Amino acid sequence: MKSLLLKNVILARKNTDIRIRNGQFEKIAQNLTPEDGEDLFHANGTLAILPAFYNAHTHAAMTLMRGYADDLELFRWLSEMIWPLEAQLTPEDVYNGSRLAILEMIRSGTVFFNDMYWFQKQTVRAAEEMGIRACIGLLQLSNGNDNTDNEWLKENRNSFSSRIQTALAPHAIYTVDTETLRKTGEIASGQNALIHIHLAETKKEFDDCINQHNMTPVQYLDTLGLLTPRTILAHSIYLTEDDIKLIAKRNSITVHMPASNMKLASGRFPGETILKHHSRIALGTDGACSNNNLSMIEEMKLAALLAKLGSENPETFPAPLVYDMASRRGAEAFGLHAGVIQEGYLADAILVDLNTPTMTPDFHTISNMVYAADPSVIDSVICDGKFLMKHRVIDGEQEILAAARESAHKLVERLKKC
Ligand SMILES: [Zn+2]
Repeated sequence: MKSLLLKNVILARKNTDIRIRNGQFEKIAQNLTPEDGEDLFHANGTLAILPAFYNAHTHAAMTLMRGYADDLELFRWLSEMIWPLEAQLTPEDVYNGSRLAILEMIRSGTVFFNDMYWFQKQTVRAAEEMGIRACIGLLQLSNGNDNTDNEWLKENRNSFSSRIQTALAPHAIYTVDTETLRKTGEIASGQNALIHIHLAETKKEFDDCINQHNMTPVQYLDTLGLLTPRTILAHSIYLTEDDIKLIAKRNSITVHMPASNMKLASGRFPGETILKHHSRIALGTDGACSNNNLSMIEEMKLAALLAKLGSENPETFPAPLVYDMASRRGAEAFGLHAGVIQEGYLADAILVDLNTPTMTPDFHTISNMVYAADPSVIDSVICDGKFLMKHRVIDGEQEILAAARESAHKLVERLKKC
């Protein structure tokens, strides 16, 4: 396979060259000599190479409903606005929404997303076409959703590229019945499968679980065999200290989504206590209806600020730790040897333009990325050794935007006719 040589990039404040081959960082050293026929990329000493981002929880196609309904209480927001619109979604809408999401993720430095939605065939198609990594959930909802492509996913997952993986994705403990959850636990342990679930997002979910099962949501999941080192717990807001100890013991992963948690007034992620018990944390954006963007840069800043404000301790959630949650720790949760710019790691990276206002002066590059930058500082994005964006150009961008705009317009028109 053809190799790629990055010339004169800045890594840990030093200028260096990096050779990428077979999707990995093969060699990092100064003054590497180009090989015959090798692709060359000149960073000219102004682009810093940094780990890319791994979005641990989202609903990609919901970008199509971005800004459709804001500033409402969670249940009203879902039942009166989002669910009726979602009922009108077609596979083509999910394809166009997924492409819009991936476009935005690439622009903001994300090379992987963990998705939970339906018409999954379309999200796989979009991810395969655009070169990003993804984990696609086999969605479970007890009230039935005829729109899932679960069977297609199961039949075809062995033919996907190595960038695409799948997870068992029971939506939440309040939308999936106990028997289905128990079966999911059994299947997961038999297959060593990833499990992706919304958990303890609202006070109501916590209280209802206590009333119905006489257990916290975390204890309930554990009794059903669903708390494993491969379990991704989206939100994880309403946790007791004992819950946090149990999550740590089972080595499961909590996903922090500060923007969504604040916008829906769900509550505050107990990050400091989770860290105290050495439990794993990744970051995610949630869908674009409750955020309303998919920028992991913004999520890092909000995570850091919210932890400091909530704990009244400015030393908690420091910038390097938050960056690690958005990159290496997120990758590791999905079994990816990535999120670090070192030989032998997967060749995923962002190239950040230091010749920009928010990256100047450059006392601490990571501090600038977490507290000052926005996605516009990202010049190029590499995933699996290939450029997804080069010098701010993404192939097909205008067509993707136009198709998403048209899909969104037609979607709302269909609802009006109902
Ligand atoms: Zn969600």
